[in-house]
Amino acid sequence: MTDVLKRRFREQIMVMFGREPRKPVGPAQISAAAKTAHELKRMTNKNDLQAAKAHLRAHQETSNTWRNRRWITLILANLLFVVSFQFDIQILEGALTASRLIGFHSVDLNSGLQVILAHKHIIVNLVIGMTTMLVFWLLFGGRAFCSWLCPYHLLAEWAEKIHLYLVRKKLVTDQPMDRRLRSVFWLIFALLALLTGYTVFEAISPTGILSRALIYGPGLALLWVLALLVFEVFFSRRAWCRYACPIGLTYGVVGIFSPLRIKYKLDGCFHEGDCRKVCLVPHVLDTVIKGRAVATEVPIGPDCTRCGLCVDACPTGSLSFDIKGLSKLL
Ligand code: SF4
Ligand code: SF4
Repeated sequence: MTDVLKRRFREQIMVMFGREPRKPVGPAQISAAAKTAHELKRMTNKNDLQAAKAHLRAHQETSNTWRNRRWITLILANLLFVVSFQFDIQILEGALTASRLIGFHSVDLNSGLQVILAHKHIIVNLVIGMTTMLVFWLLFGGRAFCSWLCPYHLLAEWAEKIHLYLVRKKLVTDQPMDRRLRSVFWLIFALLALLTGYTVFEAISPTGILSRALIYGPGLALLWVLALLVFEVFFSRRAWCRYACPIGLTYGVVGIFSPLRIKYKLDGCFHEGDCRKVCLVPHVLDTVIKGRAVATEVPIGPDCTRCGLCVDACPTGSLSFDIKGLSKLL
């Protein structure tokens, strides 16, 4: 990795914790090749560029390839919990927070941390389960937990569609919040576990509530999930995942070390921004804004959920799944 990309990566980690992305300035922050590409794009006749964009859009077929793969995986994985419990087939026992996959312990990393903080001692099976999950999500992309497994993600995606429809009709306006809130909430929930001896977050986590409701049957806690969805539909787009959920941040940290990521290629990009419009975490895509890319190929930051919506949305194929050290995946 070049010095420019290393600096950029450190910056992306800070952005994940809530800092706003900054425009690169000076030769230490932008490679010579990227600078040349930006200059060439600036020299391109604006009308030619608009015409090319319009042509591309007109001939672009809407692709939902990654979204469909993800939805199927998410639904099947959550159904496996249900089927295992209902028919006692012991493939996947438990719920998302803690389970056994064909006998192997697996514990959600955030839940495991909360339990350790609350009980103030290390439980061997818990650590084994957390290590299994750590290795798994290291390989499969950190926050991919969110978009490929979390049941709340799916409901929130559908709520987001309603929210965007209402915004288009000018019936509601999106109220963005300060992204640093999520880091603050992470600390608050960790402190609450430490000070009270209870895993307070588990009681209000829509991820855990939905997973348990699917497996063991609905309860009153679903009203809280409903309230979150209503808030997101009428007030703030994807508010829980963007500004509150500590699980997302925990897996984001895992994503720092994951070889699976989205890669951006500057050369073919038209900077029309379709990818940013569909992204749950558009701050990770600041690199696609005209003049921002620090190199001709830039890995997208660890807060990315590897959902693939931007890959589906990009009309020029400038975003793709990638494994660090290997070439483009698909
Ligand atoms: S941020 Fe939290 S609620 Fe949102 S998808 Fe990730 S784990 Fe689920
Ligand atoms: S950058 Fe792309 S893959 Fe990552 S969260 Fe945004 S839309 Fe999904």
